[in-house]
Amino acid sequence: MQVDYIIVGLGLAGLAFTKELEDNNKSFIVYEDNSQNSSMVAGGMYNPVILKRFTPVWNAVEQLKVALPFYKTLETKLNNKYDYSVAIYRIFKSVEEQNNWFIASDKPLLSSYMVSNIIHKKFEGISANYGFGKLKNTGRIDTKLLLKDYRNYLRKKDILITPNFKYDELKIYNNSVEYHQIKASKIVFCEGFGLKENPYFNYLPMQEAKGELLTIHAPKLSIDFALKAAVFVLPLGNDYYKVGATFNWKDKTKQPSEEGKQELLDKLNSFITVPYEIIEHTAGIRPTVKDRRPLVGTHPKHQNLAILNGLGTRGVMIAPIAAKSLYNYLEKNIEIDKEISIDRFEQLF
Ligand SMILES: Cc1cc2nc3c(=O)[nH]c(=O)nc-3n(C[C@H](O)[C@H](O)[C@H](O)COP(=O)(O)OP(=O)(O)OC[C@H]3O[C@@H](n4cnc5c(N)ncnc54)[C@H](O)[C@@H]3O)c2cc1C
Repeated sequence: MQVDYIIVGLGLAGLAFTKELEDNNKSFIVYEDNSQNSSMVAGGMYNPVILKRFTPVWNAVEQLKVALPFYKTLETKLNNKYDYSVAIYRIFKSVEEQNNWFIASDKPLLSSYMVSNIIHKKFEGISANYGFGKLKNTGRIDTKLLLKDYRNYLRKKDILITPNFKYDELKIYNNSVEYHQIKASKIVFCEGFGLKENPYFNYLPMQEAKGELLTIHAPKLSIDFALKAAVFVLPLGNDYYKVGATFNWKDKTKQPSEEGKQELLDKLNSFITVPYEIIEHTAGIRPTVKDRRPLVGTHPKHQNLAILNGLGTRGVMIAPIAAKSLYNYLEKNIEIDKEISIDRFEQLF
């Protein structure tokens, strides 16, 4: 069998790159072994404002310009809904935070997202003595449903293979690669934290961060916006909410932990005062990089081996633009932005 591309890993990175290939009529085959689940458990929020300091997220406006039409097209293609417009209410802890919000909301990059006046409305079950700052034009992608649908779609076309990809069985030639009788011009690795097992790219400095989330049922918490305080509370509909997430830089397992659950509950109970029931507890490992930028490019020695990784805490916004950039480099020789190119780590190779 001969294809243009082999793809390893179908989380948000793999999905964004294969969508790019489909849009350009390239043939491909995907390997996915369910060894990682960051994209499956993600909160899925897109929000161009850092809610700790009220500063813009790196390149957020450019990212959203590509990401929003990307998810829209997938909704049409797969005939399902993934993109939910959700406002975010940030609970203030002090008068100083209210003032900082007010100043930030006037800045050019932030004014189309931050509503400048402070919201003092009371909501049942939410403790917010200093009121809320509201973010608009934000939302949530149902990444789990999107990936499930996309995987089914590829399965029906017979181009999703589920076994584990074995790196030592890959044959590399000058202008092609071969894996189990499948010949391809190029291979693109999109394994998230699975990168650590990849002998070609594991020199790159990933500083992965485990994250845990709870799903709760809280019938008395009747909100249709996302709430941000010590943790996020995201409305899923029918009184279900996702609560998260933790950041653990030491634990590399993807299993939910008692410690993570307790941390989430302590934080949640600091601002939610209505009863709730825990429905689900999940965890995943974010593929975060030392300098908090994606990993895009080709291997220093083998031009036919490429990588799309390092989406960190914001895969929803970054994956589509990073995939486009990798495609444009591989197919049109358009240079990759230095900030995301893996060339910045060549001295580590
Ligand atoms: C708790 C939590 C909450 C988050 N919330 C948000 C959020 O609200 N908004 C946001 O934008 N981002 C969020 N993120 C981050 C986001 O999930 C990541 O940026 C993104 O999912 C990374 O996608 P990826 O495709 O690079 O990696 P992954 O999702 O890990 O996908 C990699 C895929 O490769 C497969 N794979 C690996 N090795 C192999 C192999 N050898 N053979 C075959 N297949 C292989 C894995 O099974 C996996 O499916 C969150 C992450 C976590 C953990």
